[in-house]
Parts: sequence; C-alpha cells; structure tokens
Amino acid sequence: MCHFGGPGGGLIAWELEGYTIMEQVVVIGTGCAGLTAAIYAARSNLSPLVLTGLMPGGLLTTTSTVENYPGFPEGVDGYELMARMQKQAERFGARIQVLRALEAADFSRRPFVLTVDGEKIETRTAIIATGASHRRLGLESERLLETKGVTYCATCDGAWPMFRNQPLVVVGGGDSACEEALYLTRFGSEIHLIHRRDSLRASKIMAGRVLENRKIKPVWDSVVTEILDVKQDKVTGVRLENLKTREAAVLPCAGVFVAIGHVPNTELFKGMIDMDENGYIIPRRGAATNIAGVFVAGDCSDHVYRQAITAAGSGCAAAIEAERHLAAS
Ligand code: NAP
Repeated sequence: MCHFGGPGGGLIAWELEGYTIMEQVVVIGTGCAGLTAAIYAARSNLSPLVLTGLMPGGLLTTTSTVENYPGFPEGVDGYELMARMQKQAERFGARIQVLRALEAADFSRRPFVLTVDGEKIETRTAIIATGASHRRLGLESERLLETKGVTYCATCDGAWPMFRNQPLVVVGGGDSACEEALYLTRFGSEIHLIHRRDSLRASKIMAGRVLENRKIKPVWDSVVTEILDVKQDKVTGVRLENLKTREAAVLPCAGVFVAIGHVPNTELFKGMIDMDENGYIIPRRGAATNIAGVFVAGDCSDHVYRQAITAAGSGCAAAIEAERHLAAS
C-alpha cells in the first residue's frame, strides 16, 4: 500500500513487507526539546512523526509553575506549557504518538530503522530528544512525598510558599547541589547540605561559595535514610545516618531538594552515538551527532544548562539541521 501526500506533499510513505512506514523526520521524545523540534519540522512541511515515550511532556510536567520561561510573566503550569507546545506542533502537522516508545534504533543503514512497539519505521533523519531523569535516592518515602515537599529542581520549585522562611535540605555534594543550595538561600531560613562524604565534589569556586555562606550548613558523611512524614502527606524532616559513626538523627525541614546528578536517557543509543563518560550525547556543530542525519537536542546532550528554554532552543536547531540535511541529500 502506498500513501503520497501529507502537508505540502512533503511526506512520502509506503508500507511494504516488514517495513511499514518511511518518514522524513522522527522526533524521539516530547519534552521542550522534542516538541520544539516537532513545531519547526512541521512548519517545514516534513510532517514529523513524534514519539512521546513513556513520559509525554518530559520532566517539566512534574513541576508546578514554571516562572522563567519567557513570555509568561505570571508563570505557567509545566503541564500546561507542554500541552500547549504539543497543540502547536499538531496544528502544523506533527503526528504525535502518545506513549509510543523507541525499542531499538539501527543507524548503520540508510534509511535508518527504528523499532517502536514491534513496528519497524524507516526514516531519513532522527532527532534524539530523550531528555534526562533525575537520579533518585531510591527511598520509598521519597517517592511518596514527591511534589509534596520532595523536589529535584530548586530553580523550578524553590519559591513555593511552603518553603519560605523554613529550614530546607539539599542532598548531594556536586555542582548541582551547591547551585541548588545557593539558590535556596533566597527562600529558606537555613539550608542543610547533606553529603555522604566530608568534602564536596563541586568545583572549587562553587564549593567556596557554599562554605562561605552562613545560611548553608553542611552535614558531612551523612545519608538520608527516610523522608518524614508520609503519614502527614508532607515533608516535616529527614532521618539521617552518619556513615562514620553510624549515629542516627532527625533533622526538621519543610523541603528536600535531591541533587545527586542526572541520568541521561540515552541507554538505547550506546555504542552507536558518541557520548561522554556519563552517557550524554556529544553534539557537534550545534545539533549534529557523529552520524549524519541523526541530530540531538535537550537534556540528553546537556549537563550544564538544563533549562526549558535552552532545550527548546536546541530543539529548534536540531529541526533546522534536519531540514537542511534532507534538502542537501
Ligand atoms: P555530580 O557531579 O555527579 O555530583 C553528584 C553528587 O551527588 C556527588 O557529590 C555524589 O557524591 C552525590 N551522590 C550521587 N549519588 C548519590 C546517592 N545515591 N546518595 C547520596 N549522594 C549521592 O552531579 P551534578 O552535581 O549534577 O553535576 C553534573 C555535571 O554538571 C558536573 O560535571 C558538574 O560540574 C556540572 N554542573 C555544573 C554547574 C555549574 O558549573 N554551575 C552546575 C551544575 C552542574 P560523591 O561526591 O560522593 O560521588
């Protein structure tokens, strides 16, 4: 069966034995990066196929108000922002496939072959925008109190009224934890930085700023063993264990900010796409990768900025690059 058409006649698709669909662009992931790529690719009449994966809208849907996305002076609900982006992409012809996740990718042949729910999809270009996940402590109480005082983003959630003038806890010893702690000094009465060792992993300059700040109180050699209080359905404190003395303690607080790193969602592409030692895809010349025709955008290739607006910008760049690649080939 053959189909010709799509918006502007740009899409040529066919179904043959085994291989069912031929796409111009497949966008993998629908956070800010993926949906912005979808908007731009759709407006170029490429009718992109967009796979949401198992978390449509990405990490931003887990935050409440996004106050730093330009154009929304009153802030915008993270979920609503992503729903609007999706609508915008669909308006121009993006085909969003909800909860469809990539199972395998073969970038060694042309066109590329993607396997999605057992179905083989051929595509001339792919935009990887699979994002990153917050590394979690792995506690049951952490899971149950997420969004009820447990958060993974001080920039997104630090200004919530429930944290104002309250003691707060940040977990971690890297640059992210230091950045979160410093940011939270604007809101909390005091910030307890819980770190499992007795020296910070963070860069010297960040560590220096943290250690000089009188509002930040490091708690060394300690781990959080439980976040309190699941029964009250809100954060009231943390149970700590000192790894050297094995002493247990309870530290009262109104919020727990977990900043123990991120895990890029790039497992599927290992061995195919160039990555750094932490699994972040290495972008070349903006949005390109080591494979011609495969582009990357957003948090799966960015461990520095990790903002909605920078992800959106890189999504735009990836779509423009994909369009140019198609035009050139
Ligand atoms: P990171 O450097 O990997 O630090 C993670 C921290 O969390 C480490 O201190 C680690 O402890 C701790 N940790 C990891 N797993 C833990 C667990 N299960 N329980 C308790 N603690 C745990 O991650 P990051 O801070 O997100 O930084 C990632 C990269 O982005 C780095 O290259 C960083 O320099 C960069 N970054 C830069 C900036 C900036 O320059 N402004 C800001 C943010 C991030 P150990 O130290 O014991 O391993």
